[in-house]
Amino acid sequence: MLIVITHNEQGINRHCRCHRVYNPSTSIQRFCRGCRKWFDEGCLTPEGGENLLARQTVQEALLKMPIIRGQGGATRPQEWNIVGTGIYASIIRDKAQDFEDITVKEQFSMEEQWERWIDILKPEFVIFIRKARFIDYKCPGCLSTI
Ligand SMILES: [Zn+2]
Ligand SMILES: [Zn+2]
Repeated sequence: MLIVITHNEQGINRHCRCHRVYNPSTSIQRFCRGCRKWFDEGCLTPEGGENLLARQTVQEALLKMPIIRGQGGATRPQEWNIVGTGIYASIIRDKAQDFEDITVKEQFSMEEQWERWIDILKPEFVIFIRKARFIDYKCPGCLSTI
């Protein structure tokens, strides 16, 4: 009996300007909230300058965190490498103003601010985000920083 397997690409989502199929193990992508689209970092042009998270309050820094997904060759992927950081970004947006108000009122140090975030974000994610240094990119669609 002959079994013919045909490759059916229908239903595969293509992304970015390159219209390639997203491969989480090799690429890292940025999400544009305005366009609601994912772009490969490799297909984007850096805006120049580092997104300096360290100079602000923890809340201000977290609100500037880009939404990313993909492990880009990393050998031990974490949950956010697979599903993206969008879930954390929405938790951060919900809580940032409350946390900022308390930070100002109680004059929390950076360390004390991070301790509050560890309670609601995963500790592994907080460790990752504290060490992360992101390059800003310009969205090729709406030209906002992503
Ligand atoms: Zn691309
Ligand atoms: Zn955009």
